[in-house]
Amino acid sequence: MEWEVEVLKRLVALDTDATERKNYSEAAELVAGYFREIGLSVEIVGEEVPNVVARLDAGAERDLALVSHYDVVPAGGPWVLDGREIDPFEPLLVNGRLYGRGAADDKSAIAATLGALRRIVESGREGELRYNPLAIVVGDEEVGGAGIREVVEGAGITGDAAVILDAAIEHLSVGASGVADGWITVRGKGGHAGYPHKTRNPIYGLVRLICELESFSRHRATRLSDLPSPPDSPVERVWGRFTVTMLRAGEKHNAVPSEARLGFDMRIVPGEDPERALEELRSFLADAAARLSLEVSMKLVGEVNTGWMTPPDHPFVREALDAMERALGTRKMAAELGGNDGYLFASRGVPTVAIGAIRVDNNIHAPLEFVYLEDVAALERFITELLVPGGA
Ligand SMILES: [Zn+2]
Repeated sequence: MEWEVEVLKRLVALDTDATERKNYSEAAELVAGYFREIGLSVEIVGEEVPNVVARLDAGAERDLALVSHYDVVPAGGPWVLDGREIDPFEPLLVNGRLYGRGAADDKSAIAATLGALRRIVESGREGELRYNPLAIVVGDEEVGGAGIREVVEGAGITGDAAVILDAAIEHLSVGASGVADGWITVRGKGGHAGYPHKTRNPIYGLVRLICELESFSRHRATRLSDLPSPPDSPVERVWGRFTVTMLRAGEKHNAVPSEARLGFDMRIVPGEDPERALEELRSFLADAAARLSLEVSMKLVGEVNTGWMTPPDHPFVREALDAMERALGTRKMAAELGGNDGYLFASRGVPTVAIGAIRVDNNIHAPLEFVYLEDVAALERFITELLVPGGA
């Protein structure tokens, strides 16, 4: 693992803050250099973001996309470890943990991918590869996903099967929830607060509507996916969710506003038709509006993400579970409660799974992010086993 640790340290030392697209070219060049060193052919794909696409032609019939990202969220801070402040971009190795921004999310996956491919090539096992490895390392994953879209939508590069290496290590993910975000507005009649009788205050109406939405959220929870939830979830199968996340109304103490609105986030379970879920919400709102005599409207924000799933009995899922069993000694499958980039691949008919070297206690997106080197090694074994069964 020495080589992988060095690689990971060099990657972490480069601040690739996604909000500023900092050091993107340097990171892409560093990663590209490692892949070239191992013997892969490398190209940089994308005009907005430099994304690394590296392929090893092993004469296999199919390509396996191994997807990770080099960008990170801002360091935040301070990072205080045992009373001492540490620099998020000076990787620190303590007791098998490597601290640094991006150490887990998602530079661990880049190091594991490089380590697995290097091991396979060095041991002369390219001929045994079940797939031609197609490493895709993108930027901008943390801020809207322009990088991966340039590769998948722009250049049409997907491979014939895909592993999104940006996830938990405890289970193999075979799907992710979709999401619809939006605003619900209650319209009233604004005016001077000294003359409330001349107004129709939308704030009271909105509050009554929120109480109703609590029961909608219970109703949403009865929608269950066929896929299991991640470990530690309160419900065994991935369930529908509806959450009120924002409130907006009024500007002055002495003025009744003419409208009040709430922001919501609705999670679509893998395999659910998002249009049907939205239709349910619309008809619930229409009923509630009639019951409460309110003027209510709903507007979506951005695109509806449909989520994705690869059927658990798909041969590729079996291959991945077998690899997991050999590499990690477990065989756990689940779908994500959040979303991930798998939908870009799955929606193009590419069988897709997700796994990574990340654990809940890794402080990703927070100060003191770290990765267990053990998990990087485990992920490396998983990738190796998937490419060369019995190879790790
Ligand atoms: Zn990530």
